Formats: sequence, C-alpha cells, structure tokens
Amino acid sequence: MKAWVLNTPAPVDRHPLQLTEVSAPVPNDDEILIRVSACGICRTDLHVVEGELAVRRSPVIPGHQVVGRIAALGNRVTGFSPGDRVGVAWLNRTCGVCRFCRAGRENLCDSCQFTGWTVNGGFSEYVVAPGSFTYPLPQTCPDTQAAPLLCAGIIGYRALRLTGIEGRNGGWSGARLGIYGFGAAGHICIQIARARGADVYVATRDRERHQTLALELGAAWVGGTVEPPPVKLDAAIIFAPAGELVPVALQALDKGGTLVLGGIHMSPIPSFEYPLIYGERSIRSVANNTREDGRKLLAEAAQVPVRTHVETFPFDSVNEALIALKNDAIKGAGVILI
Ligand SMILES: [Zn+2]
Ligand SMILES: [Zn+2]
Repeated sequence: MKAWVLNTPAPVDRHPLQLTEVSAPVPNDDEILIRVSACGICRTDLHVVEGELAVRRSPVIPGHQVVGRIAALGNRVTGFSPGDRVGVAWLNRTCGVCRFCRAGRENLCDSCQFTGWTVNGGFSEYVVAPGSFTYPLPQTCPDTQAAPLLCAGIIGYRALRLTGIEGRNGGWSGARLGIYGFGAAGHICIQIARARGADVYVATRDRERHQTLALELGAAWVGGTVEPPPVKLDAAIIFAPAGELVPVALQALDKGGTLVLGGIHMSPIPSFEYPLIYGERSIRSVANNTREDGRKLLAEAAQVPVRTHVETFPFDSVNEALIALKNDAIKGAGVILI
C-alpha cells in the first residue's frame, strides 16, 4: 500500500513526509483493518511532523481523523461487519487497568496509544485500529465532512464540557463563550455552542478566511486575537497554540469564568499579574478524549446538524496541506482524499 511516512521530524516546508510503498498492516484479533477514504489534518499532525511532540515511533504514518470502510475484522471484534463505514480518532488504545482508566478518565491513561503518533495513522491506504476504539459513523454526512469531527469535533466537544457552563445557573442558554483561534475545531465548536443557545465571541487573526467563516456561522462578534470582546465572557477556549493569548483571554473573562486550553502543544505562557486570574477565574487544559466524548460528539453533531466546512487535498499533497494549515490558509478543516 502507499502511505505517507515520517522518518525524521523537520519543518514542514522541507517536506518531511515521504510517500512510500509499505506493507499493508494485518489486524490482530481485537483489531479492524480499514480501507481509508478520507483523513482530516490537524495541528497535532503538524506538531508530530515538525517534532514539537517528541518522537514516540519511527518511522510513523501520521493522521488521526480517519474515515474508511472495514476491509477485514479480527476474530474477537464484535459489533461491526465488513464494509461498514467507521472512524478512528486520536485516542487509539488505553490500558484499561490504570487508576485513570478505572475511574472513567481514560483520556488520562498512563499508557495511552495515539493514532498517527505512537501507532500508524491514516495518511495511508489502510490502517488498523482496535475495534473497541473504532466509531460507527452516522450516515448523515459524506466521508470528507465526517473526518474533521474525529479530532477537531471531539476535542472541541470536550473543551465545551470543561468550560463548566453546563452546570451553571441557566446552563448554555444566553451564555457568553469566547473562542480564540478559529480553525477546524473552532468552526465545529461554534455550531454546537450556538445550537445549545450560547452567544459566541470569536477572536482570530485571519480576517479573510476565519473571521468571515465565524460570522457566517453566527458569531455575535469577531475581532483580532488581542481585541477585547464587547462583553465579559462566561468562558473561553483557546484553540490557537499561542501562549501569549492566555493573559489576553483572561482579561476578557468574567469573574468565576473558566479558560480552557484546547491544544496539545502551546508556546510558553507569559507571566501575568494576579488580578487577571483572581475572582475565581480558572485555567485548564484539555488532554485527549474519552470514547464517551467521541460517541456523544458524533450523536450531537448529527442532531444539530453540524456542517463542517472542508477544504480537500489530493493524496499526493499531504505536505502541501500541512503547509497550508501552518499558514492559516485553510477555511474550516483540511481533509486528505485517499
Ligand atoms: Zn490506563
Ligand atoms: Zn487532532
């Protein structure tokens, strides 16, 4: 099969991924072999390819928003049939026995495997994944539109939950949510938040693509990343990997508000004066996802329904797609056709 292989991380403009002929994977008893049709690109892929995330497997095939059809099933896999359309996300496997797994917090498992980082991912004609971590996909949207739900969607969904708005008086209705950085995750997150009744304030640096899309999707306000929104926010999510946005977003947060950091990697956070966080403001990160997050996101996305805005790239253009992502040149989510 053909696959995009990373041998040595390097800046993406040096084209570190190489299209290579490799042996197709063979599923173990608990795994599914999937013929990939589409794979979303995510900033985490960029962090893997450029080496901001330490090398965990080498060579490795990146890509962790995988949509395809089942080509073969291991003996112990139940609940799926050959030909079923399925998705594979970032959380590839957990140990099931550590204190986090036992407490329903498998996203924090001590020995997680991750698709496209510690095991091979979906920039490839075939991929294997554990049956128990593979998602049936609702038939409501085409493969290309489903792919971004599998990381951008799931992480956005978890970030929304960690804002704590759900449990507050009045819940989501009329809540004021800030989103900093408006790429794949942001554009899904706003659709869910709007459907739940929130007003969404979007701060992002690209006027032509990202701010325009935010307005199309019903943002109450859009501005540049350091522009203060016109109201104090009940919660904010930073999707941009830019630590300098933390004090900026805290400045916009109302008392008692939560700032959620949605990325797996962020540049250093500058120091700030205590009053920015005083008033019971809090900051928390999002780490990975649980399978429950994935299932709930897919169900809510089908119900809203979330419409992902997708820019597709041919299979021979994975490096170019990642360069476009790095340059903020994608409106919505980027997806590789395979
Ligand atoms: Zn575990
Ligand atoms: Zn991702």
